[in-house]
Amino acid sequence: MPAPPAGPRPDRSTQAARQRVVGMLGGMSWESTAEYYRLANELVRERLGGLHSARLLLASVDFAEIERLQVAGEWDRAGELLAGEAARLEAAGAELLVLCTNTMHRVADQVQAAVDVPLLHLADATAAAVRAAGLSTVGLLGTAFTMEQAFYRDRLAGHGLHVLVPGAADRAEVHRVIYDELCLGVVREESREAYRQVIGRLVDAGAEGVVLGCTEIELLVGAGDSPVPVFPTTRLHVEAAVTAALDGVPVG
Ligand code: GLU
Repeated sequence: MPAPPAGPRPDRSTQAARQRVVGMLGGMSWESTAEYYRLANELVRERLGGLHSARLLLASVDFAEIERLQVAGEWDRAGELLAGEAARLEAAGAELLVLCTNTMHRVADQVQAAVDVPLLHLADATAAAVRAAGLSTVGLLGTAFTMEQAFYRDRLAGHGLHVLVPGAADRAEVHRVIYDELCLGVVREESREAYRQVIGRLVDAGAEGVVLGCTEIELLVGAGDSPVPVFPTTRLHVEAAVTAALDGVPVG
């Protein structure tokens, strides 16, 4: 039998869906923010059917400015900048916010303090997924800031997780690939293989799962590159945001 002609899927919403507007703080880098945008729209279409798509506002910063502040350790200045963007999103009608980068959750409290609407913390969404999978010891891949500073590991630990990070040489390579390749849209097979090796060493050290704790990493590796479950933070964050945005929207 030939497949039926493709067409809009049935609209599963039982009334005009009034989604909450998600405000995205993005551009860090835009390569992963594009994934946030695509995934949010795909998920809303899956959940509501028909021609539904996500109600979104995007503030996209110049990543070069943010990266300069990271390297200089000027986190307060970066936090001020992002807090200003968050306030603008709220004023424009955003009802909940997502900060589309693990690293800049270093200043999540500063961003949250600037607005009344909730900022959905990426590490909380990730930890919930790890717990739901029944795991407690995870390896963490991300930027050097995310792997080496306390803000992210402590947030995961606050959910009862034990967090392992790669050794110094592996951390340097994981960090280099993020800034020199993935944030520039470059995906190399050699780097994929290097990440597989790092993941293997984390598993040897006891990791039961691996947090892809940088929003570009899932552009490079996925479940097929790891002997243990991976937790892709971009996808998990978007799922949490869409779930919150659709909370109370009848879907039949
Ligand atoms: N997107 C990355 C992250 O999730 C790295 C870029 C940044 O430093 O914001 O951490």
